[in-house]
Order: sequence, then structure tokens, then C-alpha cells
Amino acid sequence: MEKKCLFLPKISSYLDKELSEAERLEMEAHLRACAECKGELESMQGLDRLIQELPEVEPGPGFDSAFWKKVDALEYSRPARKGLFAAKWPSLLAAAAVVMIGIGSILYHSLPPKAPSIQEIQLATNMELLRELELIENLDFLEHMDELMMMGSS
Ligand SMILES: [Zn+2]
Repeated sequence: MEKKCLFLPKISSYLDKELSEAERLEMEAHLRACAECKGELESMQGLDRLIQELPEVEPGPGFDSAFWKKVDALEYSRPARKGLFAAKWPSLLAAAAVVMIGIGSILYHSLPPKAPSIQEIQLATNMELLRELELIENLDFLEHMDELMMMGSS
């Protein structure tokens, strides 16, 4: 790890001509000897030049209207895209809402406030059975449905 030069933080002040005469002379003498500071100065000067050159690369008078035409084109193309999504979203949201209501009513009916712990155990057991059903492909679902109903009513 090389130690950072103590003059480095002063370079921007030097560039902005904020240093005193003595400091400026000291800096200029240092810059001749320190490659690190010289490199930093050059990159800062390059950045300064870039910033100063920015107004010169300003777009011509035709650019503005061309730019806004593009924006307008985007604005016009947007409703068409929106329409496609708008057609799909409500049905998806409706489906999601149905699922949510379904889960909500299942939880509400299977977990009455009187005996939640027993119902919770039954629900968990039913969930386990359902998970097993997914694994055992050749078994009749309705047959197990009866078991589930029995467990739920017991
Ligand atoms: Zn230095």
C-alpha cells in the first residue's frame, strides 16, 4: 500500500486558484517531482475541460423538436401497450382475490375462536394428507377426500 500524497487534497484548490502565492509555488514545485499529484492534476484538468466543452456539444436547433417528437411518439405508443396489460391484469387480480377470499374463508371456518388449537391440529393433519396425496399418484383422490372429511368432522 502506497501512502497517499499530502498534496493530493490541495490539487483542486490549486486548480481553482484558491491557494496562496506561497502554497501555489510549493504545489508547482511538488508537481514537478510527484507523479501521483501530476496524474491527479491532469485528470482533474481533463474533467474541467470536459465540463467546459459541454455547452459546445449542445444539440442543434433541430434537436429540440426532434426530441419532443420522439417523446410524443412514445406517449402515443404507450396507451396501446397499456391496453394489452389492462386486459390481462383485472382478471389476474380477480383470480388472486378469489384465492385470497377462499383461503380467508377456509381459515375462518376451520379456525373458530372457541377451540382453535384442536382445529389447527386437524388442519395441519389435513395438510399433511394433502401433501401425501400429491406424492401418491395412483390413489383415488375422492377416497382420501372421505378421510379428510372424517378427520375434519371428528
Ligand atoms: Zn504529490
